[in-house]
Amino acid sequence: MAINRQTDRQVKGIRMMLGEIGRPVRLMEVCGTHTVSIFRHGLRGMFEGIRFLSGPGCPVCVTSSEDVDRAVLISREPGVILATFGDMMRVPGSLGNLDYARACGADVRIVYSALDALRMARAERTRRVVFFSTGFETTAPGAAAIIHEARKEGIKNFSVYSVHKLVPPALRALLSTPGLDVDGFLLPGHVSTIIGARPYEFIAADKGKPAVIAGFSAEDIISATLMLLGQMRQGRAAVEVQYQTAVRAEGNPKALALMEEFFEPASANWRGIGTIPASGLGIREGFSGFDAAKVFAGVLGGMERAGAASSEPPGCSCGDVLRGLKIPAECRLFGKKCTPESPVGACMVSTEGSCAAYYKYGGPGR
Ligand code: SF4
Repeated sequence: MAINRQTDRQVKGIRMMLGEIGRPVRLMEVCGTHTVSIFRHGLRGMFEGIRFLSGPGCPVCVTSSEDVDRAVLISREPGVILATFGDMMRVPGSLGNLDYARACGADVRIVYSALDALRMARAERTRRVVFFSTGFETTAPGAAAIIHEARKEGIKNFSVYSVHKLVPPALRALLSTPGLDVDGFLLPGHVSTIIGARPYEFIAADKGKPAVIAGFSAEDIISATLMLLGQMRQGRAAVEVQYQTAVRAEGNPKALALMEEFFEPASANWRGIGTIPASGLGIREGFSGFDAAKVFAGVLGGMERAGAASSEPPGCSCGDVLRGLKIPAECRLFGKKCTPESPVGACMVSTEGSCAAYYKYGGPGR
């Protein structure tokens, strides 16, 4: 990686601080884009003494088997078009994945935005269009906006199956994990443009861990790493913002208001981690006509009858990888039974998944 003079100074600063701290440091990035950037720019190998761990920051990776099974069941219903992002097609559930459902005759279509799904509902009035809406706080305002729009236009053949997840409650749960060994957190830039810095304050105030909201370039990540080590060296913990061009302490009030109007906190099932209270977004009661979980409640009530086990694939360690307890190479299926061409677990599906990134850039032993 070619680095400028300022970043070169920061690299030297990191090395100096590591010497002063005097022990190896474990930092967790909670964003799939950070994971890829760290690998792509060779940052893992740049600092002897820093181990970067990938946390639950890739939306595809954290989507549970159970939620994929539910989407598959909905897609099998007569007259349904299930619309979702391309990455979701190969995420495994116990009933297979959405690619397989499509091969078996379900009408599953890839969209590039939530708005595409609404356009589909406008164009296909005789069909029931369901948007399988995944992701963190970053994509939730878009989903809220299309519910708003569908309601305004009186569109009746459209609903959203929301499996949106919230980063701060997951981090709170993660910090209570026995055996978790993390010295500091690189917090996600995109999510933080929406929610701001304040929802993370418990990380420092209650858990005593340094945290820095970081941008995505190599320079951003190096700069944020220096800030984290600076806190550690000074024996303090705070939530700081490196990504100041995009993140404000209060977040984006308009986006937050839109989310608040249409969504409410709900329990969410995180792949390999389990159910975390209030860590997801359910559609508010007043908009239940747009809530696929309600519209298709009868179908979803028959999960067991349909043979859904909703368990993780045998041998898959995604849960441990997403909690920083294992690196991907420590999963016995990594690179053998599980590869990007033939993924067993969700962490190998998306390019932002930690296992896929390890496979592409790191390989065993990193
Ligand atoms: S290598 Fe595959 S099976 Fe193992 S944890 Fe990663 S995604 Fe799961």
